[in-house]
Amino acid sequence: MLAGLIGRGIALSRTPRMHMEEAAAQGLGAVYRILDMDEPARREITLKTMLESAEACGFDGLNVTYPYKIEVIGLLDELSDNARAVGAVNTVVLRDGRRVGHNTDLWGFAESFRRGLAGEAVEHVLLAGAGGAGVAVAHALADCGVRRLSILDTDAARAAQLAEQVMTNRPGTVAGAVPSTEALSGADRPDGIVNATPMGMAKLPGMAVPASFIDPAMWVADIVYFPLETELLRTARAKGCRVLPGTGMAVFQAVRAFELFTGRPACPDRMRATFDAF
Ligand code: NAD
Repeated sequence: MLAGLIGRGIALSRTPRMHMEEAAAQGLGAVYRILDMDEPARREITLKTMLESAEACGFDGLNVTYPYKIEVIGLLDELSDNARAVGAVNTVVLRDGRRVGHNTDLWGFAESFRRGLAGEAVEHVLLAGAGGAGVAVAHALADCGVRRLSILDTDAARAAQLAEQVMTNRPGTVAGAVPSTEALSGADRPDGIVNATPMGMAKLPGMAVPASFIDPAMWVADIVYFPLETELLRTARAKGCRVLPGTGMAVFQAVRAFELFTGRPACPDRMRATFDAF
């Protein structure tokens, strides 16, 4: 397998090791390169040139991250249904002269949710953050059976737009933007909360929802995974909530990408162990 990750500021990504160690465990030779566009040697190179070069060099595929997940779509021959629904691509399969875009962030969150919060109520969920990752998570929540999705974002227009997008792509889910958690009191309280804002990252401490809103009966998921336990998850755990950390999404997006690159199933537990070993 020959693959790589294109993005900016990605030097510390755990994705290459997850892929290479999984391939090695399966007896496959594999090279997975970090192709950081911030590197001086690549500063003048466009995404289009990078894609053409990867194809010419016989790459099986590429993962694509910030800031290229939308831009790359214009350079592809075909999109998976999930990539088309989300409007963003994080995995490109290069095969038989064709470039096919996928969104494994969506499947990654859904799989993490199905394994980590099985059996939890999903009648009504609050999603904080309607940015790039939030769009994938919103669709994943719909795929996990969420009937009503309330979306909170400091950019109200973005939240409203995502609500429309989800209802168009996943008609079984009713979605709407909310201006604050105060709009969801009493019987309107959600069964669970998902954070898809950057709040809680080591460089952006804090929480997108007030601690007083978190109820012990709720489940709480975060997609931020650095630190592994965010302030939101710490607060929720202390209140007795069932919690889901962001590592699952990060691992499962790689699991699915490995399967797309190689055509072989990946072992999630093994890839998880590699992720945790950093
Ligand atoms: P983004 O900048 O595209 O979107 C973030 C959104 O959050 C924006 O719409 C912004 O307006 C909103 N926001 C910010 N602060 C808020 C607040 N206090 N309340 C409500 N809304 C707020 O970012 P992104 O690409 O969507 O990534 C978000 C986070 O998700 C990143 O910090 C990253 O760590 C994490 N992430 C995790 C995974 C994973 O695999 N676990 C994958 C992708 C992203």
